[in-house]
Amino acid sequence: MCRWRQISDTYAGCGHAYRLEDEIVHCQDHLCKFSPYHDPNCGPNCKETCWQYRQFPEQINRRLDRKCGPCVEAERRAAQAAYEAQQAAQGGRR
Ligand SMILES: [Zn+2]
Ligand SMILES: [Zn+2]
Ligand SMILES: [Zn+2]
Repeated sequence: MCRWRQISDTYAGCGHAYRLEDEIVHCQDHLCKFSPYHDPNCGPNCKETCWQYRQFPEQINRRLDRKCGPCVEAERRAAQAAYEAQQAAQGGRR
């Protein structure tokens, strides 16, 4: 039976968590309505012969030992701004 895969990433470096877009995971069961192997012309008995539901979603929680993209970017910009302020203070302005 096909099912959704729900992935969420937690960045341990900053504590932010992001839910990724759900992916569909297809099975190879021709008796599953959602399967690519299911006959599109299955007919009126499909409801009796085939799965009409998706399986309980697979939930994956990934823990990443770093900071998330926006936090890394914010830090990079802060560092850049600090560097520029330092350069300006030293008269290094071009
Ligand atoms: Zn399926
Ligand atoms: Zn069917
Ligand atoms: Zn973050």
